[in-house]
Amino acid sequence: MKFVLASQNPKKLLEMRAILSAEGVEVISQKDAGINVDPEETGDTFEENAVIKAKAVVEASGLPAISDDSGLAVDALGGAPGVYSARYTGDHNDSDEARYRLLLENMKNVKQRSAKFVSYAAAVFPNGDVVSACGECVGSIALAPRGSGGFGYDPVFLLPDGRMMSELSAEEKNVISHRAAALAALKTKLTEYLKNADK
Ligand code: IMP
Repeated sequence: MKFVLASQNPKKLLEMRAILSAEGVEVISQKDAGINVDPEETGDTFEENAVIKAKAVVEASGLPAISDDSGLAVDALGGAPGVYSARYTGDHNDSDEARYRLLLENMKNVKQRSAKFVSYAAAVFPNGDVVSACGECVGSIALAPRGSGGFGYDPVFLLPDGRMMSELSAEEKNVISHRAAALAALKTKLTEYLKNADK
């Protein structure tokens, strides 16, 4: 079965293809499907936003769609920045560095620094069916940035093994990341859904 990827990010297309290459699951780009949609992420949760994005693509293409939505949740900040991770400073166009510097500033006097990256992946079908799955990567927020790899909040995200997320190679990150976990869980659920749909 063919799924259109809701994201315009070519790296996500490769990642989704690699992980969802279960028999019968083919992921194509919006361009390949002849559409170009980028709906506003108005949901209060990662899951809502993932479904909003995939639904918009289903409506435009008539084909099943896949999307993901992710961000950072800091326990001491009540789960913030959460769904606002990409616009934590209030301006989408600010740099990743501006965002993690603001996070460090907001956590200046915070001792309890546990946090997690969260990702929801969703598949939406033209009949309205939704299959979704969550993945998490736990760690904590460091006192200062370190490392030059990755993106977003990676330079301040300390893993349980003492390395920063930004100190992992792309291959290492793809094994332990919240997105990889969500996609692996989605793959299992999708395989089950498609098996039952065949009956
Ligand atoms: P999106 O789901 O790709 O739109 O990501 C939302 C935002 O969450 C990004 O702009 C980053 O700020 C943050 N984020 C998501 N995944 C990661 C990650 O793997 N590392 C660092 N930041 C991330």
